[in-house]
Amino acid sequence: MTDRPTVTAAVLHAYRNAPYLRAKYQAAGADPELWTDGLFDRLPFTTKEDLRHAYPFGMLAVDRSEVAVVHESSGTTGEPTPAYFTAADVDEWLERMLFNGVGLSGRDTVLVKTPYSMLTTAHQMHGAALRAGATVVPAGNRTELMPYSRALRLLRDYRVTVTYCMPVELMLFARRALAAGLDPAEDFPDLRAAIVNGEVLSPAKKRFLEELWSITLYPDYGSTETTTLGGTCPAGTLHLWSDRFLFEVLDEETGRTAPAGTGELVATSFHRRAMPVVRYRMGDIVTVDDTDCPCGSGRPAVRVHGRAADRFAVGGRTLFPVDVEDVVYGELPGCGPVFWSGEVAGDRLTLALEATEAGAAEVRRRTGGLAAALAGRLGLRADIDVVPPGTTMTLDRRPEQEAMFKPVYLRTRGQDGRGLDYTRTSQENVT
Ligand SMILES: [Zn+2]
Repeated sequence: MTDRPTVTAAVLHAYRNAPYLRAKYQAAGADPELWTDGLFDRLPFTTKEDLRHAYPFGMLAVDRSEVAVVHESSGTTGEPTPAYFTAADVDEWLERMLFNGVGLSGRDTVLVKTPYSMLTTAHQMHGAALRAGATVVPAGNRTELMPYSRALRLLRDYRVTVTYCMPVELMLFARRALAAGLDPAEDFPDLRAAIVNGEVLSPAKKRFLEELWSITLYPDYGSTETTTLGGTCPAGTLHLWSDRFLFEVLDEETGRTAPAGTGELVATSFHRRAMPVVRYRMGDIVTVDDTDCPCGSGRPAVRVHGRAADRFAVGGRTLFPVDVEDVVYGELPGCGPVFWSGEVAGDRLTLALEATEAGAAEVRRRTGGLAAALAGRLGLRADIDVVPPGTTMTLDRRPEQEAMFKPVYLRTRGQDGRGLDYTRTSQENVT
C-alpha cells in the first residue's frame, strides 16, 4: 500500500475526532491508536448509509467554527447525505480539480452547467476555473431560469471555450443548436473542450460527442461526498488522483481489497479534515489498471462500469448499461444527436433510438448493423425502433419533482424507474 504514514494520520484524525467513526471502529474492535500492520484492512468500510445515519454532524471531525461550507447529495430515497469542508479542504479539492489535462487558463471561458443547489459539482468547477484565472459563466442546470435556449445563447455569445456538464447535456445542446439552424461542429468555433461528469460514459459515446461538437471530452469522476476522485489526462486516460487518496478495489465475493483489478471502488482521503473519508465505498464497479500511461503521471487508470445494482446477466456474462451504450454509439457516428433508451429481459433488448428528423433515415439504415453488433458483441437479440424527436427524451422537467438529475438509459424488467424521466414527452421539448 502507498504512503502508510499519511493513511495512518488520516485514520487517527477520523478516530479521534469524528464521533460516528470512533464508535463504529470501537464496535468493530479496531483501535487505530494501537496501529499494527493489517489494521487498516480490518477497519470497517464507510458507506453512504453511514453518512445518512451520521446526519447531520456525526462525521464532523473539527470544531463547528472551522466548517466553511456544507453540501448535501440526495439519493433515490431522498434522505440527505451531508458533506462538509473546512476552507483548507476546499482549497485542496479545487487544486485537485485542475489536475486534468484540460489546462484551463486565463484565456478560457467556462460554462458551468451542472446543478449548484447543495451538490458539490458546480461549485468545484466554478471555484477551480476562478483559481485558473478563467472566466466563469455560472449557468447552473435544470432550473426554470435556465432553459436550453438561454444556455445555448450563453455558450455562443460569451464565446465559451470549455463546458462543464453531464454528457447528456452535450446531446441536448446539439439538438437545440440544430433546431436553431446551427451546426454544433461549425458554429461554436471557440468551444474546445468539455469536462463531463455525473454519468458513466462509454468510449464510443465519448468519440460520438467529440465528433458531433468537434471538441475533446475530459471525463471527471467523483461524488458530492468525495468531490473529484479522478480526471482525464492529455493522453485521454481517466486517472485516479492517487496522490491525494488511497484507492482500493473491493472484491465483493471475498471481501478483500487490492490496489488494482475489477470490483467496487473504495477511497480514503489523505487530506479531508471536516468530514474524514476513510474506506468510503463508492458503490461503483470499476476496473483499476496501474500500467503506465503515455502522460507519465504514474497515476492508475480507471474504467467506471456503473452501479452494482444496474448489472444484468446475458448468457452467463455480466453486462452494464454502458456496454450496450458503447455498441449503440459505435454504430451511429455521423447521425447527428441520438438518444437511446431500452429495456432488457433475458437476452432480449427492446431499443428505442431517437434521432432528429434529418438524421432518422440514416439511423434507420444502420439498425441492421447495430442489431448484428449487439448480438455479436453482447449476445443480445435486439428489437430496434427509430422513434420521432420528443418520444424518449424530455428536455425540461420541474426541478422540484425529483432530487435525481441523471437519465436512466436502460432498464431491466422489474427494475423501478429511477432518475430523470426519460421515457415520456414533457412540457418543453428540445426541438
Ligand atoms: Zn495519462
